Amino acid sequence: MKSIIFLGAPASGKGTHSSLLAENLGYIQISTGNLLREISTQNTELGQKIKNIIASGELVDDESVLSLLKNKLNDIAGKPFILDGFPRNLNQTKQLSVILDDLKVEYIVIYFNIDEDLCRKRITGRITCPCGKSYNMTTKFLPKKEGICDSCGQSLQKREDDNEEAFNKRFALYIKNTEPIIDYYQKENKLVVIDANTTETRSCEDIYQEIIEVINDKY
Ligand SMILES: [Zn+2]
Repeated sequence: MKSIIFLGAPASGKGTHSSLLAENLGYIQISTGNLLREISTQNTELGQKIKNIIASGELVDDESVLSLLKNKLNDIAGKPFILDGFPRNLNQTKQLSVILDDLKVEYIVIYFNIDEDLCRKRITGRITCPCGKSYNMTTKFLPKKEGICDSCGQSLQKREDDNEEAFNKRFALYIKNTEPIIDYYQKENKLVVIDANTTETRSCEDIYQEIIEVINDKY
């Protein structure tokens, strides 16, 4: 199996499908968000540095994220992975390519193309768990027990910046940063675009099946 990079707006379904593929096909899920959270609990120089950056609300610099990612890729020693939520800008994209080429990783990039309106609806109704799982008040992705995570039992929270105004800003920035990444992977001939919009006639399961087809065609 080739490894996969998932690109897509927040709430485009990347996390859900990455979990399903990990469960069903044995991919290793790599999220830079989780890597950063993990390292920030460690009592090392890098761990403390990252903890402080996160606490101050700043973004962690590309170099630190890439070095964490490189360590993780070395740890998993060639097993196929899904990278979710990274790269986020063109600089990261180019540097990631160098790392993946050095490690001789074969991969494709799947872009979850989603309409802004659907994305807004999902984000403003979203409640999340500290473990990373998210639910939605406006859809059928509700927890079994109100306010409690199905997977780990922790309390669910609504993120302060999951409101409409913050969303509009974030989405515009997301598009601005992502377009050059899409162009880059298109030129590299690695990009597959998936229609990530769920509708009355198009379920999450339909999208999952399309991803499976993409994987089978390409592998
Ligand atoms: Zn949880």
